[in-house]
Amino acid sequence: MSDRPIYLDANATTPLDRRVLEAMLPYLTEQFGNPASINHVYGWEAEAAVQQARKIIAEAIGARPEEIIFTSGATESDNLAVKGVAEAYFAKGRHLITVETEHNAVLDPCHYLKELGFEVTFLPVEPDGLINLETLEKAFRPDTILVSVMAANNEIGVLQPLAEIGELCRDRGVLFHTDAAQALGKIPLDVDEMNVDLMSLTAHKIYGPKGIGALYVRRRDPRVKLAAQIHGGGHERGMRSGTLSTPLIVGFGAAVKLALSEMEAEGKRQEKLRDRLWDKLSTLGDVRLNGHPTRRLPGNLNVSVAGVDGQALLLGLQPAIAVSSGSACTSAKIEPSHVLRALGLPETLAYASLRFGIGRFNTEAEIDRAAEQAIATIEALRKVKGQTS
Ligand SMILES: *Cc1c(COP(=O)(O)O)cnc(C)c1O
Repeated sequence: MSDRPIYLDANATTPLDRRVLEAMLPYLTEQFGNPASINHVYGWEAEAAVQQARKIIAEAIGARPEEIIFTSGATESDNLAVKGVAEAYFAKGRHLITVETEHNAVLDPCHYLKELGFEVTFLPVEPDGLINLETLEKAFRPDTILVSVMAANNEIGVLQPLAEIGELCRDRGVLFHTDAAQALGKIPLDVDEMNVDLMSLTAHKIYGPKGIGALYVRRRDPRVKLAAQIHGGGHERGMRSGTLSTPLIVGFGAAVKLALSEMEAEGKRQEKLRDRLWDKLSTLGDVRLNGHPTRRLPGNLNVSVAGVDGQALLLGLQPAIAVSSGSACTSAKIEPSHVLRALGLPETLAYASLRFGIGRFNTEAEIDRAAEQAIATIEALRKVKGQTS
């Protein structure tokens, strides 16, 4: 057995599935052509492989292949969606709506746009992490051009009501962007049913390679205009220039195909493991589940532990389990998670939080060992704290 810690951080990234690697390999060696080379077989082969992946990814979200724009990942897709819409529609309006619990890849572009003269409403969330639809309704203005609400939260796994949000946006002629980096391959997504106009995707959260993602951009009813953020060559309908990475795109397609074919069974399996972990951890007492109890990703468990120091907790767990804490290093400072703060958690509890991300390769035995380790560590820390206070 490996003596490395048990990997339980699937919301941060996932390992490449061997089957995905196999699909990619030929495109790293023999079939190395540039998909934009139209004069020879090397280019044709690469282009055919890209088109096949594009089709798989489009079908996974109910879109058409020509609506998929390849990018370097969800961060770039979020930037392209938010800044690209703002730039293309600023004559129509300068107001955007998003949510306090969004990923920084959405929040930071919004802050950037504010500096340029746009106005942004950051919606609060309920204590369970869901947005309030009435609050959203009230936030619309005549000059609102975009609503950006994520599909599944990367920290607490909460699933926002996309179809309801999409309907409110469509009724008002406002574009709807969703960051679906955590949702793809884990819950059903359909851009038409949900009235989504732009959707950010990434491969490395679903056992695909890092450095490849996509932005779905609706082409009909309405046809979304987007200002490119990277110019040069006019690839991807002029929205994102640069030579396409055939091996990464092939890997992305293979990863999506696998995730979809296993989605239901794997979702049920992860849910069972997650509930098993929570059942064990909750025997400790004074632990709290963060985020809505049922409207959540199957593999995500975020808990706050009262009576322990967050830093000590993480240090204590590090040799045994690889998990994320409720704090993040932003510009070398340790800050409590903006998501947990938005739920109304006090700072000390936000620090003393753990995010367990259960993935495809985790076993029941691993979950049991992780629970044992976590319980032992927390009990030991509480004992020490009890003695010193
Ligand atoms: C991981 C993640 C991102 C960033 O994706 P990259 O492909 O790593 O750039 C953005 N949004 C959410 C919700 C994520 O989980």
